Amino acid sequence: MECFDVIIIGSGPAGTATALNLLRADPALAGNILLLDKAVHPREKICAGGLIPHTLDCLNALEIPLTVPHVQVNRARVQALPGHEVVCEEGGMCSIIRRNEFDFLLVRTATERGAEIRQGEKVIRLVREPDGIRVVTEKTTYRTRIVVGADGSGSRVRRQLIGQTRQPVGKAIMSDVPISETDWDGFVQQRYDFNFLPVQDGLRGYLWAFPCLIDQVAHVNLGIYSLGVNSFSNAALQDCLSAEINAFSTATASKSERVQHRMVSGGHVYSFGQTRRLRAFPIHGYAPERPLAAPHVVLVGDAAGAEPLMGEGISFAFEYGAFAAQAICEALQTKDFSFDAYTRTITQSWLGKKLARLSFATKLFYGRTARLWFTLAARNTRLQSIGLKWYNGVDGWHQRSGWEAVRAVINRYPRQP
Ligand SMILES: Cc1cc2nc3c(=O)[nH]c(=O)nc-3n(C[C@H](O)[C@H](O)[C@H](O)COP(=O)(O)OP(=O)(O)OC[C@H]3O[C@@H](n4cnc5c(N)ncnc54)[C@H](O)[C@@H]3O)c2cc1C
Repeated sequence: MECFDVIIIGSGPAGTATALNLLRADPALAGNILLLDKAVHPREKICAGGLIPHTLDCLNALEIPLTVPHVQVNRARVQALPGHEVVCEEGGMCSIIRRNEFDFLLVRTATERGAEIRQGEKVIRLVREPDGIRVVTEKTTYRTRIVVGADGSGSRVRRQLIGQTRQPVGKAIMSDVPISETDWDGFVQQRYDFNFLPVQDGLRGYLWAFPCLIDQVAHVNLGIYSLGVNSFSNAALQDCLSAEINAFSTATASKSERVQHRMVSGGHVYSFGQTRRLRAFPIHGYAPERPLAAPHVVLVGDAAGAEPLMGEGISFAFEYGAFAAQAICEALQTKDFSFDAYTRTITQSWLGKKLARLSFATKLFYGRTARLWFTLAARNTRLQSIGLKWYNGVDGWHQRSGWEAVRAVINRYPRQP
């Protein structure tokens, strides 16, 4: 039976970031870190592919140039109140990639730097042993001292080795439409659009439109995000997104082409037409009280919990990877594999605080007081500027205290020197 110091299950951003941070901290681990993935890269991942500026900082820190095709977004259009829209111009707000290309870049870099990867190998069972974990895949069995659960929203590692706990679950549905079939000006304007108007009808989420490049062809990625079971039903989400796609489509697209869609959800295909594919995937949100580790096991990325307000998860995947690598290096040095402090370290870090604040924000923006908070956000440009900087991790705002943010909103920001 093959043995590795560390086996990382899942080679998305969280798994590869963990491997890359480990290899940076301790190059001697080369050859002793195994990434296992059921898919084969470049694999499809249902995702809008928005990288906030903080994700680019994480890539820089790991010395990974963004060499895959991407579209830069410099402005945002937000609709939250009827008849009122806000356009924010910050420059460098987001870079939009395709996940098949981006994740493949991360995997190639991790393997070039010394991680081993086995693809097309699904993990089907994890068995706790006195001094580690036995990892059973469709092809073989491994033994390891540390398992990293980087296996996404439905994490088998979380279910089998940590235990399922209550957590906010979101769902996102999306579709890619060639710009040539739409009237949308967002691609040329380098803009992305967020539409929170359906919150008034009970949606705990929003619609988005992101510019993107698929095989060098300009597209708009249209999607809808919904948090929790008390929000829209699946059918209502599909209807809402279908209506949005129709609204974006040019008058020349034929009626039947515009209203028929094919629905793919978690690998299941719901067929009600042939033309456009709607693709859905669950998003497991972060819950501060939930354990993120157990002896010989740590969770990262969506397996640990993404942010529930907007469903953004790539920057958090990178940050979880950095925290996990630090905890793993300490465990390998001290031979203490309990990972007792891991959950607390995350909870008390700026990462845990940012996730917890975004969880709290769902109560404000998707709750009974939604109109009040959206009105405040729509009318106050300083709040918009600080909020965007905080969310995007610009100028270190994501690591500053809430009081500092409140002071900056009340006083003039940015201060003139
Ligand atoms: C429609 C949609 C739009 C989104 N848009 C954005 C966005 O614009 N920006 C953003 O930041 N985030 C976005 N997200 C969230 C983002 O996709 C995730 O947060 C991110 O992919 C998390 O990375 P990860 O590495 O934790 O998990 P994943 O990327 O899901 O990777 C998990 C990996 O584990 C593998 N795996 C799973 N089970 C097993 C198993 N049993 N054995 C072996 N391998 C296994 C999978 O094949 C996969 O490669 C979006 C999500 C959705 C659904």
